[in-house]
Amino acid sequence: MERASARAGRRLTEIRLIAVTKIFPYQVIVEAHEAGLRDFGENYVQEFEGKYPHVGQLGGARFHLIGHLQSNKAGKAAEMFQVIQTVDSAKLAKRLDALGKPLEVMVEVKLSEEEAKHGVGPDDLGALVEAIRSCPNLTLLGLMTMPPWSEDAETARPYFIRLRELAAKWNLPRLSMGMSNDLEVAIEEGSTDIRVGTALFGKRKKL
Ligand SMILES: *Cc1c(COP(=O)(O)O)cnc(C)c1O
Repeated sequence: MERASARAGRRLTEIRLIAVTKIFPYQVIVEAHEAGLRDFGENYVQEFEGKYPHVGQLGGARFHLIGHLQSNKAGKAAEMFQVIQTVDSAKLAKRLDALGKPLEVMVEVKLSEEEAKHGVGPDDLGALVEAIRSCPNLTLLGLMTMPPWSEDAETARPYFIRLRELAAKWNLPRLSMGMSNDLEVAIEEGSTDIRVGTALFGKRKKL
């Protein structure tokens, strides 16, 4: 992070390290918190429900949902997470807003044609941004994306540039992009929130 921010002429303090703890047991969150980390990313509402009673009260900890959220799990998610990074429809935004709890959200943008990916396409982004801005309980922080996986971090660069351009167009301050293998490229391209699992905690088992 230091290297990349120095290269990009950015301050390290403007980049948030989100520790991705999916699949790992709650003790890993407790230890990472003891080591000074405060932002944690989880992908699965149901899996995090098991850990939350052990970590929900850690001082200053903030939990980010970075996996797809089904509308029927919106209530449970809003109870546990401070930030929902994967809003991808007006229907989901309205569901979250109707819960009556102030929440920070990001829009997940789909920039590649991969089938398994969630997210809103660039052409539909404007309408979704407007819809979220009309929700009194939601604060829209910015955009999140996940480029197609590749060994070579450089293949992610055009996606990061595209996300930055879209955020500028819609006047959104934060960019959640960059994972273990491409975080330096993401920081060079303006990421404010990198989501890092493997580089911090090692390999995960499959869920
Ligand atoms: C798992 C995951 C990450 C972390 O990936 P690593 O390669 O382990 O750093 C980041 N973002 C999302 C959306 C993920 O699902």
